Amino acid sequence: MALVKCTECSKEISDQAAVCPSCGAPNKNRVKPMNGFLKALLVVGGLFILFLMFGAYEGSKPENREKQHDRDAIELCRSRISNPSLDPEAQRFVSRTCDYMVDQFRAKYGVEP
Ligand SMILES: [Zn+2]
Repeated sequence: MALVKCTECSKEISDQAAVCPSCGAPNKNRVKPMNGFLKALLVVGGLFILFLMFGAYEGSKPENREKQHDRDAIELCRSRISNPSLDPEAQRFVSRTCDYMVDQFRAKYGVEP
């Protein structure tokens, strides 16, 4: 809070006063009061809206969701290869299946999963 000069009577008035208390002239130098809480709320609100927008944007791209799904499937497949309860034949089969999924992924998205 600071003091400013009234444009009408030149008396010092608060920069947050809407009108001059002495002459009633509108304070042209008025600074709109904004407390820390409101500022913090604006920052948090802004971030939250950005976050929501980004989330909606990413979620609205079906390719991304599908890609993540395919990636998860490959991940799951690979975790099965090292399953000690599988016999070597089954492990080879799972491994081939994973390789096939990776090939499909590469062909589909042009990147490594
Ligand atoms: Zn005044």
